[in-house]
Amino acid sequence: MKFLYKKRKWLLSIGAAVIAGLLLKSIDFFLGTSFVSNSVKALKEVLLYKISILVLIIVAFTGFLLWIIGKRFLYKKAKPLFVDYDGDIFDGVRYRWTYKYNNGQYKISDIKAYCALCNCRIVEYQCPHCNAIYINKRSRKWIEAIIRHSITEKYNLDDFKELKG
Ligand SMILES: [Zn+2]
Repeated sequence: MKFLYKKRKWLLSIGAAVIAGLLLKSIDFFLGTSFVSNSVKALKEVLLYKISILVLIIVAFTGFLLWIIGKRFLYKKAKPLFVDYDGDIFDGVRYRWTYKYNNGQYKISDIKAYCALCNCRIVEYQCPHCNAIYINKRSRKWIEAIIRHSITEKYNLDDFKELKG
C-alpha cells in the first residue's frame, strides 16, 4: 500500500507539472507572453551550469588521480647502488641476504648461509648436498656486521643507514 501511495504521489506530481505547463502555454497563446519558453531557457541554463560543474569535478578528480599515480611511479626514488649487493663469501661460507626498506632506511635481513662449492643451503654446519663441513659458519649478528662493513667500503659510504633490531 505504501508503495502504491508513493507511486500515486509521483504520478500526481507529474500530472500537476503537465497541467501547469499546459496552463502557462495557453496563457502564452492568449496573451502573447512567453512563460513556457522562458522557463525552458532557465531550465537549460541550470542544466548547463550543473553539467559544467560536473565536468570541472571530473577534470579535478582526474588531475588528482594522475598526480597520485605520477608521484608513485614516475618520481619513485632511485634505489641506492648497494641494494644490488646481496651475496658474498665470508670465511669460506657463501651468504645471501635481502634489504628491507622502512621509513627511509634500509635494513639487512634474511641472511642465509650456502655452500661455497655447490650453492646448497647449509644445514647445521654441513652441506646436505656435497657434505662439505662449515664449522666456521657465524652468527647472524656477526655476518650482519661484516656485510655493513663491506657496504661502507665498497660504496664509499660514511654511514650505512639501517634500523636497529
Ligand atoms: Zn655443497
